[in-house]
Amino acid sequence: MDERREATDDAQPPRLPLAAAGSRLSPVQEAYAAYTEHAIACDDCRNPGLSCEAAGVLWRAYMAIANQAAQKMG
Ligand SMILES: [Zn+2]
Repeated sequence: MDERREATDDAQPPRLPLAAAGSRLSPVQEAYAAYTEHAIACDDCRNPGLSCEAAGVLWRAYMAIANQAAQKMG
């Protein structure tokens, strides 16, 4: 079912309509995963009350994408 093509795929974009790439996470999920993965790995972010600049950027990116998705869903 889950065939993986190892061929060169940089020449041919995926022929999906608007979704990202096939069975991957949605943009919202990817943005949230990027934030949580950073927060888990970052010493500052693991410290309650502290967060770093990168976390703020990732969080705002997630919120922006989530808001866009929410508006599209109505
Ligand atoms: Zn951090």
